[in-house]
Amino acid sequence: MGTMEPASDGFTETQPSRFRQQSNTRRESLPYNTEMREVIYLDANASTPCDPQVVEAMMPFFGERFANPSSRSHGPGREAYLALEAARRTVARHLGVTSMTEIVFTSGATEANNLAIRAIAAARAGHSRHLVGQRTEHPSVLQPLAALEREGWAVTLLGVDGGGRIRLDELEHALRPDTALVSLMLANNETGVLQPVAEAAAAAHARGALVHCDAAQGPGKLRVNVGELGADLVSVSAHKVYGPKGVGALYQRRQHPPLRLEPMLAGGNQERGLRSGTPNLPGAVGLAAALELAAERVAGDGPRLASLRNRLENTVMAGLDGVRRNGDPRHRLPNTTNLAFAGVDGSALLASLPDLAVSTGSACASAAPEPSPVLRAMGVPADLAAASLRFSVMRHTTEEEIARAAARVIEEVRRLRR
Ligand SMILES: *Cc1c(COP(=O)(O)O)cnc(C)c1O
Repeated sequence: MGTMEPASDGFTETQPSRFRQQSNTRRESLPYNTEMREVIYLDANASTPCDPQVVEAMMPFFGERFANPSSRSHGPGREAYLALEAARRTVARHLGVTSMTEIVFTSGATEANNLAIRAIAAARAGHSRHLVGQRTEHPSVLQPLAALEREGWAVTLLGVDGGGRIRLDELEHALRPDTALVSLMLANNETGVLQPVAEAAAAAHARGALVHCDAAQGPGKLRVNVGELGADLVSVSAHKVYGPKGVGALYQRRQHPPLRLEPMLAGGNQERGLRSGTPNLPGAVGLAAALELAAERVAGDGPRLASLRNRLENTVMAGLDGVRRNGDPRHRLPNTTNLAFAGVDGSALLASLPDLAVSTGSACASAAPEPSPVLRAMGVPADLAAASLRFSVMRHTTEEEIARAAARVIEEVRRLRR
């Protein structure tokens, strides 16, 4: 390594005055602008725009506060460490957790889900042989469960009823003395259907099993409190809640005796050995800011999202025959509706609606031609599953956009049916 020249070491490039000037120019184009949108974005469950306040909170950590939080031998490194721990405390607080050491920063909910399931399996491998999931979980839960099944674990995937929810008696029946883990999502990304996580957690705990909850779709739409969920491990993702992509967190409840989780990434033992690699400090700060804003806004945003979603749903269902709503309407996210248009192919409908950003199935599976496994698991016939679209509104969605979107859907479904 060469010697650091004060004038050319890169540090002077990010002196406050110059940094501020650059970031201000940039920031003007950041807010998600309502008036200029040509495509109506109704795919919030796939991703959301980063809130300008979140971007602002992150900015210093790309610039003058760039130091490595693990480099605690010098001042800038210690400052970065303190900022990371402050972000961890904020994330913990907004998930209703009291101790900050229970939050591990990850690259997103996918990694948090993999880490949780892999880690529990490894920690319990000596005395457990069995894992429980359910059929409408996100692929980042289903795939690790399938991998563990190939490695010799017994895996039970619970079915769901016509509304998309598991049955607690079926869970009770599935639990065994050697069940290590029950993984149950808070809200489904395709249908918005909420699972009875607290009740399932109580049943699992009574049998000595740990509970993991993929809560990626919760924050910003619902108040998420891990105490109320009753889960031992909870995954969240920043980009689903107006934060940056590529960062999330896994909450892990303290266990007595402590649970020795197995890391997925080996290396410098960052994140208490659970997640090696230089921490994504700007991302962690962004996740913290996003969850903080979500907590402030959810009381207002929840009902507003529901009113927009309901208006879309009611207008489309009043304007067309043969529309079926997928998912239990009494237990679902306020922003999501999943509608089947009988006699219409979902991909054809999507193709005829280039002015709407909506989706068939989950974003991760949208290249696959088969109808949504989530809808199929709910007993939706293949032709209706293939005729289904998911609409998920966000806090930027306007009444005018909802009216336009509903009119366009009605117009194109009528045209395709002719
Ligand atoms: C988006 C999503 C994930 C994956 O989150 P990433 O942060 O994009 O990896 C996992 N589970 C659910 C329910 C999701 O909606």
